[in-house]
Amino acid sequence: MFDVQLGDHFQLRKTHPCGSDRWEVVRVGADIGLKCLGCGRVVQMPRSQFNRQAKKLIARQTPDSRGG
Ligand SMILES: [Zn+2]
Repeated sequence: MFDVQLGDHFQLRKTHPCGSDRWEVVRVGADIGLKCLGCGRVVQMPRSQFNRQAKKLIARQTPDSRGG
C-alpha cells in the first residue's frame, strides 16, 4: 500500500506505449490520475490497481519546493 500525494513521481510496472515507466500523480481520490513523464498523456486507474502497479517512489515534492 503506497501513500500517494499530488506531484509524486512513481515508477510503475506499467510501461506506457511511448516507452516511459515513470508517472506523475496529478489526481488523488478513489481513482489515481497519472501523467506519463515521457509524453504527457494522463490516465486514471483505481487506487487498488495503482497499488499493484506501483514499483517505486522516485521523487516527492516537499511543501518547501512546492511553495514557490
Ligand atoms: Zn507516454
